[in-house]
Amino acid sequence: MCGVVGIYGHPEAANLAYLGLYALQHRGQESAGIVSTNGDKLFAAREMGHVNDIFTATRLKDLPGTAAIGHVRYSTAGDSSKKNAQPIAVDYAGGSVAVGHNGNLVNAIELREQLEADGSIFSSTSDTEVIVHLIAKSRERTLPERIADALRQVRGAYSLVFLAEDMLIAVRDPMGFRPLALGKRKDAWVVSSETCAFELIEAEHLRDVEPGEMVIIDRTGMRSEHPFTPQPPHRCVFEWVYFARPDSTLDGRSVYRARERMGRRLAVEHPVPADVVIAVPDSGVAAAIGYARQSNIPYDQGLMRSHYMGRTFIEPSQHIRHFGVKLKLSPVREVLTGKRVVVVDDSIVRGTTSRKIVDMLRGAGAREVHMRISSPPTVGPCRYGIDTPTREELIGSSHSIEQIRQLVGADTLGYLSLSGLKDSVNSASDGPKDGFCDACFSSEYPIQIQQPARLRQLRLVGA
Ligand code: AMP
Repeated sequence: MCGVVGIYGHPEAANLAYLGLYALQHRGQESAGIVSTNGDKLFAAREMGHVNDIFTATRLKDLPGTAAIGHVRYSTAGDSSKKNAQPIAVDYAGGSVAVGHNGNLVNAIELREQLEADGSIFSSTSDTEVIVHLIAKSRERTLPERIADALRQVRGAYSLVFLAEDMLIAVRDPMGFRPLALGKRKDAWVVSSETCAFELIEAEHLRDVEPGEMVIIDRTGMRSEHPFTPQPPHRCVFEWVYFARPDSTLDGRSVYRARERMGRRLAVEHPVPADVVIAVPDSGVAAAIGYARQSNIPYDQGLMRSHYMGRTFIEPSQHIRHFGVKLKLSPVREVLTGKRVVVVDDSIVRGTTSRKIVDMLRGAGAREVHMRISSPPTVGPCRYGIDTPTREELIGSSHSIEQIRQLVGADTLGYLSLSGLKDSVNSASDGPKDGFCDACFSSEYPIQIQQPARLRQLRLVGA
């Protein structure tokens, strides 16, 4: 769960990277960083916290130059601390290079053990640092060749932005797990995890970086290479379900349109007589609108979300802690009292939120609560860059739908089928109808994980 952005050829590159990260904040709220270049050397700023809090005007002034990359992080590999904040920037025999990574490498521990056995010293616990070491050790001549050489040794999910003194490189892994888009703002080139960043910085979305493609941007312009053995694409379907912003288009498929279709399909697969359709905001809104349109049951705003729960929130003392989900969501009694309510959410992970929501709706006077989920039961943890709990903690992996219904306390519970989900995403575009990674719903993992002989806890002193 991370977001990356890159700007090349603009006098305010760091400012644009900052705005791009602002638009990608939903992809990671733990730490953020920007590295810029003035053509001669790299300048870096990384900190724990939200983009808006980290990058003051003074900090941005310390990031000069016409090219920059940025990163927002939510840890899926490596712990949450400043030493793991990205972009990572290092000096190697060929110069300086910085990298920001969205994804998760499945053979990082094995590679790290080999590198350490050969004498490499690591300064973080993040899997991304492995890539930097492989680049530094490569015998290839140019940076793009060194990067390709390094990435041929890693397996897993990666959408990467690299910055050298005079060059920006964007790479997407051969299966295209995580998104990456390419755009232009007048003469400047822009890359971003999601197209919503282009809206904010007024860049035009040219196309998506293809799975397996390396885009190299320098003063001669942009060129594209395909340095890896082609593989069938496995785009993460969960990006459309929950993770990406609805105003983004990923690989030609509008996230909003896909969610609206999921809701329509859900109404076909799990109809129920009701008075009102409401969403769990924000992630359930588009699907709830689709459900309402398809079922001809009016859509209304039955739950309000507070957007002011920042990281500065101070945990209240023990006796008022049970507020829990109420800090985030609040019922609109006027919409709910005496009604048969369909409540639409994008997914059930542990099941704790759903139970509290059902309680809250009943407490506000709902006569019946029918829960509808715009994806199938979550049964497998993600290995490729989304933060999900262990299989044991996923309620869908050990409980039947009827058991989950009882646990969350709903009158009825209906999940979208996997084929319904994929059809919904595909029908959101006229584009190609090829493969998705749906391991979280099917437990079919496109890249197997070889457990290293000795799984160890990575430890580094200090942060
Ligand atoms: P729970 O079932 O209580 O674990 O929470 C489910 C809710 O968390 C859903 O409403 C989703 O909107 C949201 N959600 C789904 N996946 C994730 C994730 N990987 N990280 C954070 N929230 C998530």
